[in-house]
Amino acid sequence: MLAVHQPNELGQVPVLEWHFFTTDPEAEDEYTRTIDDFRADLEWLYAHDFYVVSLRDLVTNRIAAPPGKHPVVLTFDDATAGQFRFLEGADGSLTVDPNSAVGVMEEMYTKHPDFGRGGFFSFLPFNCFAVPDEPEQEPFCDAKLRWLLDHGYEVGNHTFGHADLLDVDDATFQAEIGEAVLWLDEHAPGHDGDLMAMPYGNYPDPDLHARQVAWMRDGFVYEGRRIKLAGALKVGAEPAPAPADVAWDPIFIPRVQVFDANMEHWRPQFEDGEVVLYTSDGNPRTLVVPTDPSWLMKSLDAGGAATQGRTVVRYDP
Ligand SMILES: [Zn+2]
Repeated sequence: MLAVHQPNELGQVPVLEWHFFTTDPEAEDEYTRTIDDFRADLEWLYAHDFYVVSLRDLVTNRIAAPPGKHPVVLTFDDATAGQFRFLEGADGSLTVDPNSAVGVMEEMYTKHPDFGRGGFFSFLPFNCFAVPDEPEQEPFCDAKLRWLLDHGYEVGNHTFGHADLLDVDDATFQAEIGEAVLWLDEHAPGHDGDLMAMPYGNYPDPDLHARQVAWMRDGFVYEGRRIKLAGALKVGAEPAPAPADVAWDPIFIPRVQVFDANMEHWRPQFEDGEVVLYTSDGNPRTLVVPTDPSWLMKSLDAGGAATQGRTVVRYDP
């Protein structure tokens, strides 16, 4: 079994990142992906044995991908219309636009049930899946959030006002994260507001805002609501270490932004093994590590793996 699937649960996990979507090839850039390219992104992942897992499962080290599969997390920042668009029928019924990212993902998951299912939306209340130019989508905001949570997707925190948290006062720091949670409590019960993507990838400056740095890890109380982050996402710039790796830090999870030049950089490294990918053994209770390459074991956070309830298993590949 181990020899067949070659599991390696200390390998890296790509956390991929998209912002805007378009159907116009002329409009594609670093932050804007065509829907056709997004479909090709997912097909490429499927063809290369990736399996979609939730951000929550990564953060809690409960990755349950089938044996031999590489977990991947799909993330979407800023709540743009192209990520999730509803089409309204003459009778008022709502269907997911197949030319929005959610539509493409649903098509993939139906076509390939063995691709997993999910996606993490770092949400902005003031964008509400209606920007840059589709205000008619705004009334569907709450219905979209409900739909996402009912269908296995995650709705997370991206602050209330897309604040750059590098250098703000303590009250602003708490309000930006806390107001987003209170808003989600009201509009999206069951949300994932304890998982956040940092706007612009910026964290509080440790020299200026030590208290905020501590709050990122230990939490704080805002308007009577206890806020405790379980994970935070950076903007760049490489695949994430495995959650049992000593380099893993749930408050600094790196991501790979998906645009042509960047994927031309990473895809060959995923294919030829230059990036040693996480490969699942199919059992979230064990943590399987091959004896080769031998340097791998040096990166095992044994205490962490035990805390996460996983038994370490070695094998000769
Ligand atoms: Zn953003």
